[in-house]
Amino acid sequence: MTEEKAVDKTVCPHCGHKMKKWKVPPESTWTNEYHWICFNDDCPYYRKGWKWMEEKYEQRASYRHSYNPETGQTGPIPVWSPNALKSGILEEDEDGTERNSET
Ligand SMILES: [Zn+2]
Repeated sequence: MTEEKAVDKTVCPHCGHKMKKWKVPPESTWTNEYHWICFNDDCPYYRKGWKWMEEKYEQRASYRHSYNPETGQTGPIPVWSPNALKSGILEEDEDGTERNSET
């Protein structure tokens, strides 16, 4: 059997950038703590989204690629501005461990 190449789902398939952990807001219906979201503003998926939403829905909005580590599902998460959702980003240190903010 040939071993399947492990696909790192925390890397955006559209732009190849490492996605960021995003804290799921408490009022949402998701039960897990965080999602992975591509916050690259040059991501082609996100950039095309603006045009697409305007043409289809006449809305000034777009979406970013997201990955739910709990269900393993990937899909678009809607954003209404370039800075939308960014306040929920969980910053990580270089080595990938989460920074402990005890303040
Ligand atoms: Zn991307």
